[in-house]
Amino acid sequence: MAMSNASPRIVRLLGHPVAHSLSPALHGAAFTALGINAEYHLVDVPPDDLVTAVAALRAPLVLGANVTVPHKEAVLPLLDEVAPLAVRVGAVNTIVRQGERLRGENTDVEGFLAPLHAAGAPFERWAVVLLGAGGAARAVASGLLAVGVPRLTIVNRTLSRAQTLACRLDDARVSTLALDEPRVGEVLAGASLLVDATAVGWHSAVPVLTPDRLDRLPARALVYDLTYHPTPLLRAAAARGLTTIDGLPMLVEQGALAFERWTGRDAPRSVMWSAALAARDARQRG
Ligand code: NAP
Repeated sequence: MAMSNASPRIVRLLGHPVAHSLSPALHGAAFTALGINAEYHLVDVPPDDLVTAVAALRAPLVLGANVTVPHKEAVLPLLDEVAPLAVRVGAVNTIVRQGERLRGENTDVEGFLAPLHAAGAPFERWAVVLLGAGGAARAVASGLLAVGVPRLTIVNRTLSRAQTLACRLDDARVSTLALDEPRVGEVLAGASLLVDATAVGWHSAVPVLTPDRLDRLPARALVYDLTYHPTPLLRAAAARGLTTIDGLPMLVEQGALAFERWTGRDAPRSVMWSAALAARDARQRG
C-alpha cells in the first residue's frame, strides 16, 4: 500500500475493556519501523455502542480495526463481508476497510498455530486437551481440526458451553468433559498437547488444573497457555519439566497478520516481538 504521510491513518481496537492491551505497543513499533504514518487507538466499546463503533470504521482515514472480548462474535452481522475462516470459527478479530466496505477476518487461528508450526508439531499424531470453550477456544479448536489432530477433548467449567462448541464444530474427533469430571485425568494421561484457553491465568494464583491432574500429563506433553504472561499453569508445568508456550507468540503473530491485511506490507515481526516483550515487562513491573 502506498501511503501519503499527510494525515495519520487510524487503526482501532474495539473491546470492553481494552486498557490492558499490548497491541498499541506492537503496532506502533511496526508503523514506525516501516515509516507508515498511522496510529493505533484503544476504544472501549460497551455492547450497546458496538453498531456505532463499527459504522465509524467506514471513515476515510481508517485502515481497519482489531476486535476483542466481548465483541468478536457480535460484530459479524455488522460487516459487509466475512472471510470463510472467520465464518467457520464464528468470530472476527480483524476488520479491514476496503473502500466503503468492511471485511471481517480471523487471524487468531493462524496466530495460535504459528508457534506449533515453528516447533514442527506432528499434528496428525496428537491427542489434544483444550481447556475452555469461549471465543479463543473456538479459534483454537478450528485450527487444530484443520491441521489434522485425530482427537480433541474440550474441557470446560460449564459443560453445556463445551457441548455447544462441539455441536458447532460438528466433527467426530471432538468430545467434551466438564472440568470437575474425574475422567479429565484419563484424557490428560493420553495427551500430547494441553491448551489453556480459559481466562484463569489472568486472575488466579493457582493453576487451572490441580497438581495431581497435571502430574497425569506424559513427560513429552506440550503445555500452551494463551494468556501472555507466565501463568501458574505454565510455572507448574515447567517445574515438572514439561515444554511450555505462553500466549505472546500468538499475540504477535495474530497482530502481524492483521497488520499485513491493513497495510499490504510485510509485518516487521522481530520489531513487533521486541515491542510486545518490552510492553509486557513494563506491565509486569508496574
Ligand atoms: P471468554 O470467551 O470469556 O472465555 C473464558 C473461558 O474461561 C470460558 O471457557 C470460561 O469457562 C473459562 N473460565 C473463566 N474463569 C474460569 C474459572 N475460574 N475456572 C475455570 N474456567 C474458567 O474469553 P476468551 O476470549 O475465550 O479468552 C480466553 C483467554 O484467551 C484469555 O485469557 C485471553 O486473554 C486469551 N487470548 C489470548 C490471545 C493471544 O493472542 N494470546 C488471543 C485471544 C484470547 P465458562 O464457560 O465455564 O465460563
